[in-house]
Amino acid sequence: MQISGEPSFRESVDLMFNRAVKLMDMSPGLEQKIRVCNSTYTVRFGVRLRGKIETFTGYRSVHSEHMEPVKGGIRYALSVNQNEVEALAALMTYKCALVETPFGGSKGGLCIDPRAWDEHELEQITRRFAYELIKRDLINPAQNVPAPDMGTGEREMAWIADQYARMNTTDINAKACVTGKPPHAGGIQGRVEATGRGVQYALREFFRYPEDVAKARLSGGLEGKRVIVQGLGNVGYHAAKFLSEEDGCIITSIIERDGALLSDTGLDVEDVRQWMNANDGLLAGYPKARHVEDGAAVLEEACDLLIPAAMEGVINLGNAARIKAPLIIEAANGPVTYGADEVLRQKGVVIIPDMYANAGGVTVSYFEWVKNLSHIRFGRMQRRAEEARSRLLVEELERLSADQHLGWSLTADFKERFLTGSDELALVRSGLDDTMRTAYQAMRKIWHERDDVEDLRVAAYIVSISRVAATYRSKGL
Ligand code: NAD
Repeated sequence: MQISGEPSFRESVDLMFNRAVKLMDMSPGLEQKIRVCNSTYTVRFGVRLRGKIETFTGYRSVHSEHMEPVKGGIRYALSVNQNEVEALAALMTYKCALVETPFGGSKGGLCIDPRAWDEHELEQITRRFAYELIKRDLINPAQNVPAPDMGTGEREMAWIADQYARMNTTDINAKACVTGKPPHAGGIQGRVEATGRGVQYALREFFRYPEDVAKARLSGGLEGKRVIVQGLGNVGYHAAKFLSEEDGCIITSIIERDGALLSDTGLDVEDVRQWMNANDGLLAGYPKARHVEDGAAVLEEACDLLIPAAMEGVINLGNAARIKAPLIIEAANGPVTYGADEVLRQKGVVIIPDMYANAGGVTVSYFEWVKNLSHIRFGRMQRRAEEARSRLLVEELERLSADQHLGWSLTADFKERFLTGSDELALVRSGLDDTMRTAYQAMRKIWHERDDVEDLRVAAYIVSISRVAATYRSKGL
């Protein structure tokens, strides 16, 4: 979505980059090297479907190869274009650097309405697209590793992994060619929920600092905060579900393609999602809340926290001045345009930027890639040893209590939790939580320590650009 007078998504990302580099001491040459997108491959391929040949256009863009493999999702949408793919690839570079996943940035996209094709047809299209990318090493465990994005998920990633394995029968690391696979096809527990979970962990970390919360003219914790979510897809659904079920947030509105649901007392996210699943992805007709057709207008409703989790450019010069939320977390990539960002900053709105907010996906993708390369699931070697040590301690405490007539007794709940070793899901969540906390701390340090840094977005860019620059310098560029 681009309204007149506004820069494109790609230009918007560059302008945000420029705001940050102005505050950094970097040579213009290196600055330009980091800013530009290294390459974009466009492919047009035909697939015989429904008795005729259909031609599709796809892209794979590599923004920066300062580290390899490069990493970034594959999006299926009719709106996919080169400008968008390059913007998203650039964001991947900065995101990976910010959360310290050892990847360069990349992104892919296919111009397709995935709802217009049945499962078998989508498999044929996906395998053909993957074939085109694999034969050019644009999908490869050591060079370029895609993941899901809008319109794609576990199913498409499993097809891509299988296509790669068919074309590289002796590559022992074949499964690491793509992440976001289902667990039975080499995936990792917790990947599907990872981006939404990361949004939750990001907010928990933000709310640990009362002075940061005060900058957003809020107080207290997440409990009772009124939240508007746009997009109940992978990211929005998980974020809204976890925030409402585990942190006490009240989801007052969910905005989707066909309008929005509103409820003062809070929507049951799981129930709404079940409704959508049973009703062609539509909210209309949902019996337990009011439905309005103008979803975009609901972005402007009063709330404590706004979570755009659908697509780019939804908060733009056309509506920024009317946004009432004091805090926005960019669960989607690029939901706030460069111009809107300026308007919102002037209004004192705090924005937790996309490159940090939705980095949970690539973080858990990194864990999945490491799992595939090490050919063993996390926790397999340690879990029972950890449980045995804990049991030793519990038994010794119980023996001491009995021998010394101390009358201690450990509660059943404590024993249950203490004696349960960490399985893969627990380890993934722990690694994700650590990543989100550490990255936030790196950003907020710059936000608070430097007088010339106004906002978290510039702070995030400064952290990541410095890291990319350090890698280039050490390579001798
Ligand atoms: P998805 O396809 O699962 O969900 C997107 C949802 O947004 C869908 O329910 C769709 O109906 C809805 N939607 C689309 N256009 C809309 C509009 N104009 N108004 C309201 N709702 C609309 O996609 P996703 O994977 O959840 O990705 C959403 C965003 O998060 C994208 O910007 C993507 O780049 C970003 N992201 C995704 C991941 C991931 O792991 N999936 C990781 C990082 C960032």
